[in-house]
Amino acid sequence: MTVQSNFITPDSSDPRLQSKSRYRMLVDGKSVDAASGKTIHRVSPGHAGVVVGTWPDASADDVRAAIAAARRAFDTGPWPRMSGAERSRLMFKTAELILAHVEEIALIESLEVGKPIAQARGEITFCADLWSYAAGQARALEGQTHNNIGDNRLGLVLREPVGVVGIITPWNFPFIIASERVPWAIGGGCTVVLKPSEFTSGTSIRMAELAREAGIPDGVFNVVTGYGDPAGQVLAEDPGTDMVAFTGSVRVGTKLGEIAARSVKRVGLELGGKGPQIVFADADLEAAADGIAYGVYHNAGQCCISGSRLLVQEGIRDVLLDRLLDISRKVTFGDPLNERTKIGAMISEAHAAKVHSYVEAGQADGAELLLGGARVGEGAGLYYAPTVFSGVTADMSIAREEIFGPVLSTLTFKTADEAVALANASEFGLSASVWSTNLENALQSIRRIRAGRCWINSVIDGAPELPIGGYKKSGLGRELGRYGFDEYSQFKGIHVTLGRPDPWFG
Ligand code: NAD
Repeated sequence: MTVQSNFITPDSSDPRLQSKSRYRMLVDGKSVDAASGKTIHRVSPGHAGVVVGTWPDASADDVRAAIAAARRAFDTGPWPRMSGAERSRLMFKTAELILAHVEEIALIESLEVGKPIAQARGEITFCADLWSYAAGQARALEGQTHNNIGDNRLGLVLREPVGVVGIITPWNFPFIIASERVPWAIGGGCTVVLKPSEFTSGTSIRMAELAREAGIPDGVFNVVTGYGDPAGQVLAEDPGTDMVAFTGSVRVGTKLGEIAARSVKRVGLELGGKGPQIVFADADLEAAADGIAYGVYHNAGQCCISGSRLLVQEGIRDVLLDRLLDISRKVTFGDPLNERTKIGAMISEAHAAKVHSYVEAGQADGAELLLGGARVGEGAGLYYAPTVFSGVTADMSIAREEIFGPVLSTLTFKTADEAVALANASEFGLSASVWSTNLENALQSIRRIRAGRCWINSVIDGAPELPIGGYKKSGLGRELGRYGFDEYSQFKGIHVTLGRPDPWFG
């Protein structure tokens, strides 16, 4: 077993590993198992061999039952007909309950995903804020009137909920991603069936249970657990859903886009990324080095908005890399349950192997491996060392493809034009960062970068008010802010004639 001084060996005697929670799906307000009785066991990625959660393995029929419940709740239930004020009150109550359960939910998230417990606490607290923001907006949603289309005509634009929404989420931020979608969908009057990742389903079930406890009516927020096929696929294919909102890989997103196109169903896609971090010579290098480390190592690099491509202006490359390497050698990684841990585990054996194959490809392509590039603590859990490459060129796979691990690829540029061109030389367009003390230069660069979520002098920052989403292969649609509500709304135009209409025949 390779041991590094900044590696925190997992403590297999931690009593919190004994929790072994057993979950049931939530359908029409009731906790249910799969009709077959089949289950899925989750082993902690941070603690080899320890089962930390068990949930149902839903069949296509189990999912159809949940869709039928959401359909009834939408077509005949109280939720879409309630005032925004009433919906808002129940959603605020859900936010309060999430806040009251931060410790419990953070522990589940840490055990199932392998993320550091301190990070998980911050994420769950942020989710309460996402619910609160959406709750506030839920009573402010409006349409439009057009009083300028003629003396005897008035135009009304009604905002209506799109209907039953199937929401499919990935494993890296289960509670955040569900909290970025469910409150926006139900806030406008939709009903939902959420299918979390088969790796990490516990906290999504707890979220729905808390919403039920808050008084959100039966059938409005259902959760089914199971594999992508059949559970996720049925959500996209079944005529009972009016929309599918998917977050995950380009491979599956493309497939769901095709399914939705065949039935002309609305689809939202939030897919992968290869975020550039541009560092200009005039940047605050101390802050930039810290931000680059955070941007690539956060959640062990398993983050769609990771800053995994460092684009640094030539003259400052060595000094910036020296500082970054120093941080990378010292940053604590390992046991997710240790309060000092900054970087936790990889999600699965297969994924850790995939990350390593990218590192091998980078070396074979001639990039220089400055640090890391190896599994650590093998046998104890799934850990990968912070890894830094320099001498990367734009054609290498480590510059182009989403590695989804703690692996940084460093490229250099001379001018701002070159930096922007390199940033845009990607099939993805999810996020981008610019580090510079010249705000004009930073803004002009960001304006030319084709990415949906950008930062100046920071990275992986977020607020419920600002939209997120992808350009190019990173996806379709926008979540959060006011824009997120449009995603789950239909707009109906009503032409009102005031007085007698002009005769057509005579
Ligand atoms: P994934 O595509 O393998 O799985 C995502 C979800 O889709 C899971 O719930 C899975 O069960 C389900 N699924 C799989 N096959 C399906 C099918 N045939 N039909 C319907 N559903 C199916 O992705 P993942 O490995 O869980 O997550 C990693 C990917 O997600 C990365 O590419 C990452 O960039 C992306 N991601 C994007 C965002 C964003 O907001 N843009 C956020 C987080 C993750």
